[in-house]
Amino acid sequence: MPRDPKHDILFEPIKIGPKVMKNRFYQVPHCNGFGSEKPFSQAYFRALKAEGGFAGVSTEYCSISPESDDTHRMSARIWDDGDIKNLSLMCDMLHEHDALAACELWYGGPHAPNMESRCVARGPSQIPSDFEFLTYAIEADKDDIRHLQNLYVAAAKRARTAGFDIVYVYGSHSYLPQQFLTPYYNHRTDEYGGSFENRARFWRETIEMVKEAVGDDCAICVRMSTDMFMGEAGTQLKRDCLPFVELCDDLVDVWDINLSGIAEWGEDATPSRFYPQGRALPWQAAVKAISKKPVLGVGRWTNPDLMAEAINDGKLDIIATCRPSTSDPFLPKKIDEGRLDDIRECIGCSVCISRWEIGGPPLICTQNATAGEEYRRGWHPERFTKAKNADNDVLVVGAGPAGMECAMILGKRGMRRVHLVEAEDDMGGTMRWIPQLPGLGEWARIVNYRKIQIDKLKNVEFIPNTKLSAKDVAEYGAEIVIVATGSYWSTDGLNGASHATIEGADASLAWQATPDQIMGEGKELAGDSVVVFDNDGYYTGVSMAEKLALEGKKVTLMTPLGTIAPYMHFTLEAPNQHRTLHRLGVEIVPYHLPSRVEEGVVVATHVYDEEGHEKSFAADGVVWVAQRRSNEALFRELKDSIGLDQLKAEGVDSLYRIGDCEAPRLTADAVFSGHRLAREIDSDDPAFPLPFKRERRMVDDASVAFEKAEYAALYAEASLS
Ligand code: SF4
Repeated sequence: MPRDPKHDILFEPIKIGPKVMKNRFYQVPHCNGFGSEKPFSQAYFRALKAEGGFAGVSTEYCSISPESDDTHRMSARIWDDGDIKNLSLMCDMLHEHDALAACELWYGGPHAPNMESRCVARGPSQIPSDFEFLTYAIEADKDDIRHLQNLYVAAAKRARTAGFDIVYVYGSHSYLPQQFLTPYYNHRTDEYGGSFENRARFWRETIEMVKEAVGDDCAICVRMSTDMFMGEAGTQLKRDCLPFVELCDDLVDVWDINLSGIAEWGEDATPSRFYPQGRALPWQAAVKAISKKPVLGVGRWTNPDLMAEAINDGKLDIIATCRPSTSDPFLPKKIDEGRLDDIRECIGCSVCISRWEIGGPPLICTQNATAGEEYRRGWHPERFTKAKNADNDVLVVGAGPAGMECAMILGKRGMRRVHLVEAEDDMGGTMRWIPQLPGLGEWARIVNYRKIQIDKLKNVEFIPNTKLSAKDVAEYGAEIVIVATGSYWSTDGLNGASHATIEGADASLAWQATPDQIMGEGKELAGDSVVVFDNDGYYTGVSMAEKLALEGKKVTLMTPLGTIAPYMHFTLEAPNQHRTLHRLGVEIVPYHLPSRVEEGVVVATHVYDEEGHEKSFAADGVVWVAQRRSNEALFRELKDSIGLDQLKAEGVDSLYRIGDCEAPRLTADAVFSGHRLAREIDSDDPAFPLPFKRERRMVDDASVAFEKAEYAALYAEASLS
């Protein structure tokens, strides 16, 4: 299909300093867990976005010095020649697709914990980080300020050598330049503190020096947070940012405009639970109104109509995406080709971000199972090889996220026939009701995307309203059987804290329920008050509490954990979720585990009370968000009762299970499980994942000899003391 002319504006080239972007799609800096230490994973991950049509692609935050080391989290680093070499691979691969490569130069100040380097960062004032624990900076004197500025210049030169086209002087998310600009961090009384001119001095001087060093070869980008939403102390649009744009517009080639400090950066990387796409537009438009330079900005953009509108209305020049480019690296190409229903829209869950926040592992994506797997597993999100056993029929039992993903990929791999059989009247499984929880409407995209794709695949047939017994499965006529029957919430209080049931817990009673019963079956609890017991720790418990509070119930949210929904800290949803529950008057009871329940009362004990003092909580009803269990009855019957030999006699060559039916996990992991099996359905033993490539240093004889000799030389002259 041809491109819709109303989207033409998105494909117009734009000049930024000495460079030209071939269109208006740009992948802003965002973390992926690869840094400079996993150069192939980094390069393949970013290059795929260039292949998908992004005209500019950036690194994540890229540390300019060991003084700015974010370990346990993974940043890129451009400290030395080794980093230049490693990051040059990314630049080369981006250039092969005619995309510009950007490097976000980062110095964290007091936010850099320096756990690996053991250096001490410098900052405008000696105040501890509001993001990390026990992390302080040296209060920079004038020599330190020159040292810091020279670090930016040296890093910019290294970035140019690596082949980067765009160099950032990154000053949002409350990192160093923003710290100088903001009274919350800057308590100085010299010419670098106090008035706006003084607070802006460090950043302006640094941009000048970087521009002087590399500005003929590289475009200079400044990323600026325009509001920290904390009143007088924090960065403010009118007091700080607009004057800064006027002060530095002559030096800057492109502005990257966003929001927030790092302690609440969910105000920038907005979860869909709280904000629609394009949330930052008013701030971006304010900068655009006074700048003569191009302005780019994030907004969780997935809708090309809204992207074009933002440019046509003069609010943005370049559509910057982070998560939507991970969910669908081919977003620009699909818009260009008029294939809008093929866009795998980001759902705004921020599970990708959770991996960076946890520290260490590579990112994953709920929508795109191939994200992070481009190099190590060789997965391409849009290309599929024909399966070697494509002459088989496959029966997938259960059309939840894992079953849908598996059937879709098997269809794309050309299996003769894929039968996706579902007991209910439509696809989705629990993901049919999860999007009805407060704020989770965009999560319906998980089902919608796959439904549309499956509809297009002639070799995949969806068969609703069909509950298969083990005998039905055995006699179905498919050579490959995949069980994807999902999971259910425990009905007897069985939970991960005590690993036991709870006395009196029984969700078959009228005054008790599970999320499945309330959301999936429409069960209603009588009465005005309810205890929601949550030991899941993610969105389900707090969502049930919020829903019931919105319906007018007095809600007590009880958890044996130290805080409600701790995983939401990693998805950046926690601050606003706490605000929401507080506003709704939900009583929060951490560190408590029910010991028994009776109609009208939940009796609980503090988990660290060795004497087990009991406390009673009056409640008309109880909701158990205790733990999930796999729906594995069908799989067990097939494997244990009928047996693999008998299945073979019936023509079933292989039997697998995927998703929550294996073990309940994040939806991203359930989708991955279905995808992985389909990708490897023709391997020697598809039940077990193929090994993936690991980027690591390998020891060999030469390296051992070298390291030992160097160590020995170090101590050759030293005697034992
Ligand atoms: Fe979007 Fe969620 Fe994927 Fe992140 S994990 S890119 S928020 S769908």
